[in-house]
Amino acid sequence: MAVDLPSRARVVIVGGGVIGCSIAYHLAKLGWSDVVLLERKQLTSGTTWHAAGLIGQLRQSINMTQLARYTGDLYRGLEAETGQATGYRQCGSLSLASTAGRMEELKRSASMAKVFDLPVHVLTPGEIHSLYPLANLEDVIGGIHIPSDGYGNAVDITQALAKGARARGARIFQDTKVTAIHHDGRRVSGVQTAQGRMDADYVVLCGGMWTRDLAASIGVSVPLHACEHYYVLFQDVAGLNPDMPVLRDYDHCSYFKYDAGKLLVGAFEPNARPWGADGIPDDFCFGEIAGDFSHFEPVLLDAMRRIPALEKAGIQKFFCGPESFTPDVRYHLGESAELANCFVAAGLNSIGLQSAGGIGKVVSEWIRDGHPPLDLWEVDVRRAMPFQINRKYLRSRVSESLGLLYATHWPFRQFESARGVRKSALHDRLAAAGACFGEAFGWERANWYGPAGTAPKYEYSYGRQNWFEYSAAEHHAVRTAVGLFDQSSFAKFRLEGADSAAVLNRLCANDVDVAPGKIVYTQWLNERGGIEADLTVTRLSETAYLIVTGAETETKDFNWLRRHIDPAARCVATNVTSGMGVLSLMGPRSRELLQSLTPDDVSDRAFPFATSRTIELGYALVRASRITYVGELGWELYVPTEFMLGVYDELAHAGARYDLAHAGYHALNSLRIEKAYRHWGHDITDEDTPLEAGLGFAVKFDKPGGFIGREALLRQKQSGLRKRLLQFKLASPEPLLYHNEPIWQGDSIVGFVRSGMFAHTLGAATGLGYVTAPNGGVLDAIGADDYDIEIAGVRYRATASLRPLYDPKNERIKA
Ligand SMILES: Cc1cc2nc3c(=O)[nH]c(=O)nc-3n(C[C@H](O)[C@H](O)[C@H](O)COP(=O)(O)OP(=O)(O)OC[C@H]3O[C@@H](n4cnc5c(N)ncnc54)[C@H](O)[C@@H]3O)c2cc1C
Repeated sequence: MAVDLPSRARVVIVGGGVIGCSIAYHLAKLGWSDVVLLERKQLTSGTTWHAAGLIGQLRQSINMTQLARYTGDLYRGLEAETGQATGYRQCGSLSLASTAGRMEELKRSASMAKVFDLPVHVLTPGEIHSLYPLANLEDVIGGIHIPSDGYGNAVDITQALAKGARARGARIFQDTKVTAIHHDGRRVSGVQTAQGRMDADYVVLCGGMWTRDLAASIGVSVPLHACEHYYVLFQDVAGLNPDMPVLRDYDHCSYFKYDAGKLLVGAFEPNARPWGADGIPDDFCFGEIAGDFSHFEPVLLDAMRRIPALEKAGIQKFFCGPESFTPDVRYHLGESAELANCFVAAGLNSIGLQSAGGIGKVVSEWIRDGHPPLDLWEVDVRRAMPFQINRKYLRSRVSESLGLLYATHWPFRQFESARGVRKSALHDRLAAAGACFGEAFGWERANWYGPAGTAPKYEYSYGRQNWFEYSAAEHHAVRTAVGLFDQSSFAKFRLEGADSAAVLNRLCANDVDVAPGKIVYTQWLNERGGIEADLTVTRLSETAYLIVTGAETETKDFNWLRRHIDPAARCVATNVTSGMGVLSLMGPRSRELLQSLTPDDVSDRAFPFATSRTIELGYALVRASRITYVGELGWELYVPTEFMLGVYDELAHAGARYDLAHAGYHALNSLRIEKAYRHWGHDITDEDTPLEAGLGFAVKFDKPGGFIGREALLRQKQSGLRKRLLQFKLASPEPLLYHNEPIWQGDSIVGFVRSGMFAHTLGAATGLGYVTAPNGGVLDAIGADDYDIEIAGVRYRATASLRPLYDPKNERIKA
């Protein structure tokens, strides 16, 4: 082995599970044959050999479904291509609903699937029975059928991918453990093995449940933790046949799959059992875990009710194996924020087999092109917060994560485990004011406030939830008086030094070389003109800036900034998120309230829109920035953390005279969607340009020195736009929009809703979404009344607008 191991390769892949092999296969297929895959034991010997073999295609979002769909397409032809059997069978799948909420979820998914032509049929219990006569359907109210789903053999599929990779020149070394990763602090340069060092331009970490610790050894955050994962094989089940669909009984946490003459029953149960807390044993190889039968038993009993034939069948094997789960039940993909050319594909949450094809494709294209081929933010490893590799946090969260695979994906559903991790200085005050907190990236954030006497607790549904009216009142308070938001979770960076302006202006599409005290709303773009970040930049002095961006992009944006500072540049970036809280006072009476507490002049003349100054407030000096994300007169107050309580107390006390209301993130979302303010990650992503997003006003083409993405935008300007972001308001006040609902124009789907919420001032659900010109042409006309939006199988009329439906002339924010 030592003789064979090359001293360098263009790409080294660490890990020979289905993910690593798929990436090797796809890289080789792209013509990158100088690829070496290193596996510590044998191919598939980690988690892959456990996989039950379900290959489904419908995921919770459009892009994830696209990836899973590609996987199905790939596996269908893999055996013919490689000559290696894969056991792939297109038997279709059935998903059952026993509750109205679940049925709504399935119908919404079926609508979403239409966006890319994945046939999904909504079925009655009678139709389900004819496809799956073995099931007892007495409590079932309906379901969906996906004829193109299937199953396969995970070991054989992995071997087929490995064979396909080898055939195109990739080399695979087993019994070769990577013991360290080499880097120079900015980018990876190779790996260390017992057999020696290998240099590499790229290192891809696909080490399954081992990845967290390997990544942590080089300062890269990949939060994941193994959990026990169970299934049982029943033999002698009457009535089985290999073409029976895979059956998913979400409401009873179980799935059923034909498995070589037996019936495999697997589970995604609540309160899963974390495994490997003290580290994964080094000798783990095709390992099984003893598991706890009593933990699995309740699922099994339900399964026997669902398939009565199981009562007379025998258990051939009770099986438990470890699989990696992540804090948000989404896998980790892409180039790490911390180190260039260090790629990650791990934390597969028990969908690794059905995701591997898509992952291999997008990761290999990402490596080749230097950017992801489509918006992959929801699984992008750069969303990971550094604290999330804390093992106590992971242990308590992943025991919830596993069950969430089959739990109803209620809108606004909040995690129940690992709570209270990052708290604003005001947390207890806001709790006393009735806050119901949601969790976002570890932060506890007030989502809504319940009146005295009500419990701050969600009652989930797809309709109007229990907080709907409370949040409506907060919304109206902001529109008519003044609301107070705690936005301390904003990510905040300082850039300081003589070259700050030059460095930042190259990153920003807007011109930030402005006078001290000015706030500039801007985007950071990639070379294709896609939006990498959406932020405000405040010039503090000739040599210092404050950069404010969303909580979810703290890691990504800070590292984007850091990476774009040339080592020779005289400036330094510091993440100051924890040092400052943010209180936002928003609404027509915000000026009166603020003026009552400060000797500084906050009139429009003295303190115009988009300016920022230090003012006295109570005993503190705070940075007041006149800017808004809700479309009203207002200020964001940046307060040193230890002054937060004092400032809040002053505001809350004085606020009573101005009808001040506490307002939460659900109201914020309603207000900003009504005003058509974009949200990065939903409405604007790295594949949408400012021109498409209607943000051309924030692009300064002619500023000295240009900016990253300028040439791409100029080209787009010349060739015309193929898609445009529109605001949609439903004609009916009844239905609710969340996201991913298809947008119809006549008989064609022309887009989907990126984000949606009930807009209380407009009086109907409102959303933002791109519409695309037919046949890839230029979009030259947009008709306000041309569109319908489909929700759970029903089409609703919608009004479309390029300009915000609320306050299109910005009169309120400039008051
Ligand atoms: C019971 C069970 C049922 C499942 N059913 C399904 C299913 O039906 N459908 C589905 O899609 N998914 C299913 N899964 C999940 C699926 O098996 C996993 O998501 C997938 O196999 C993960 O693949 P991987 O390549 O990331 O990890 P692994 O298969 O664990 O591969 C990682 C590899 O990296 C190697 N490695 C680690 N560290 C190093 C190092 N330092 N140097 C070299 N090599 C290293 C390991 O030895 C291992 O072989 C199931 C999982 C379980 C446990």
